[in-house]
Amino acid sequence: MYRTHTNGQLRIEAVSNTVTLAGWVQKIRDKGFMIWVDLRDRYGITQLIFDEERTPKAVMETASKLGREFVIQVTGKVIERESKNPNMPTGDIEILVSELTLLNPSLTPPFTIEEETDGGEDLRMKFRYLDIRRKPVRENLIFRHKVTMAVRNYLSAQNFVEVETPYLIKSTPEGARDFVVPSRMNPGQFYALPQSPQTFKQLLMVGGLDKYFQIVKCFRDEDLRADRQPEFTQIDCEMAFVEQEDILNTFEGLTRHLLKEINGVTVEKFPRMTFDEAMKRFGNDKPDIRFGMEFGELNHVTQHKDFNVFNQAELVVGIAVPGGNSFTRKEIDQLIDWVKRPQIGAMGMVYCRFAEDGTFKSSVDKFYDEADFAEWAKITGAQPGDLICVLSGNTSKVRAQLSALRMELATRLGLRKPNEFAPLWVVDFPLLEWDEETQRYHAMHHPFTSPKPGQLKLLETDPGNVKANAYDLVLNGNEIGGGSIRIHDKKVQAKMFDYLGFSPEEAKAQFGFLMDAFQYGAPPHGGIAFGLDRLVAILGGQETIRDFIAFPKNNSGRDVMIDAPAAIHQEQLDELNLKTTHSEN
Ligand code: ASP
Repeated sequence: MYRTHTNGQLRIEAVSNTVTLAGWVQKIRDKGFMIWVDLRDRYGITQLIFDEERTPKAVMETASKLGREFVIQVTGKVIERESKNPNMPTGDIEILVSELTLLNPSLTPPFTIEEETDGGEDLRMKFRYLDIRRKPVRENLIFRHKVTMAVRNYLSAQNFVEVETPYLIKSTPEGARDFVVPSRMNPGQFYALPQSPQTFKQLLMVGGLDKYFQIVKCFRDEDLRADRQPEFTQIDCEMAFVEQEDILNTFEGLTRHLLKEINGVTVEKFPRMTFDEAMKRFGNDKPDIRFGMEFGELNHVTQHKDFNVFNQAELVVGIAVPGGNSFTRKEIDQLIDWVKRPQIGAMGMVYCRFAEDGTFKSSVDKFYDEADFAEWAKITGAQPGDLICVLSGNTSKVRAQLSALRMELATRLGLRKPNEFAPLWVVDFPLLEWDEETQRYHAMHHPFTSPKPGQLKLLETDPGNVKANAYDLVLNGNEIGGGSIRIHDKKVQAKMFDYLGFSPEEAKAQFGFLMDAFQYGAPPHGGIAFGLDRLVAILGGQETIRDFIAFPKNNSGRDVMIDAPAAIHQEQLDELNLKTTHSEN
């Protein structure tokens, strides 16, 4: 038996028992005549003491040669500590060691394996197995496990069945590029890795399974934005014989359960907002509603004077920054620089201080008077002591810019509290989205999403205004889930493919299996998928998903530990009938 107890287990009651422990040497304090060692495992740390007077000589000698991260086994007596450590569960006791076995030595680790480490991100990723020994990383992984167990238990109790769908499939359009896998047995042909199990879960509904879920890896070959992973995990769900309302209620139930179970937080009914309203009030389809700073549209109170910048703008819109009048001139200039950075792209920013005494002072005093500013304040909800920030220009651009500013200010002002949870359903998304690059409409969610009842004919006349039976679940400014009611009628689906620019042949080649299935009694159905990595991070009160993934990829999609992707041998390429090899550079 390697151990009688774990390193997180022993308390004062165990004093005078003889125990055997095993684990890693985290820290050594060697005074020559006395040596203390912190012994670590997944469960905690227990202090060992070796003492010239009480420890056998041979043991003392081995102990003096221990190094960090050596794996050892010790037997000894539990004794009460002279100086207790109230910050450690095992802090009242230590083990007076009488036997010591070196199970495996260790090289000196490249960074300190303690709660606080000196290791930078790259180094920690390269030696991720060492990083995982650190408490914060380990606890995040255990936290993730708790969330997935809670999801499984909840959905299973609601009669959902977890079904695995294949990874080697044909392209599913979720708007990203596919990762492809060459087929050795079918020369010149490729599988695609699923961007999501979308078509399969719909086929499971045709198969009569009624309620499906799966905690599943999805793969999307996108240019990596910060904190995105090329492979990520979804809680993927689908239900038959449902309307949007049923889906919202079911998954509001799941989310509420998680918040209660994991965070001990009770949330009332989730508010709902249409996409249009979210864009108008927050400039964003995933608004963080934990704080105010709502958009106030100012066209009618700014375009009556000689200020051309505003007069020429499609939208003039402002927010009131609480307490912002206390910003120094320098701080405001920095904000202006911030919105002008290429990532945000604003041309400039007009501001108006609303002083505590009720007077206004703005960067456009030349053009506007107190009465104008009083209107701005009314519309943006500004109070004395606030700062009104105003951007102008093309509606969609200016909304995105002001939304970025709103989030930045909220972060700076400490309004985005990690342990406060504000879920929100955003509904009535547009069915289509205009793509500048290809100069045509794309499905905003995916091509299987059904338009709202009665809107199909609008496709011909006013496509941009067709609303979909699609919804997102937003939590603290993050989209954590999205889904839709699907098309289940072959003719409608064919029409949609046609509209999205697929020829009937292409549609048949790519999605014939689905349209065929629809001819055999497809039930009305719909579903949703949650991004598990992000959900776990938010519930864990953090924003970096990488911290909740055991072996994440870096920003260039590389696993720096195993060094993937990598070149493969010519024989392998030949076997796969891949003629062109990589070039030498
Ligand atoms: N397959 C969709 C996605 O990955 C989710 C859904 O529509 O259920 O976003």
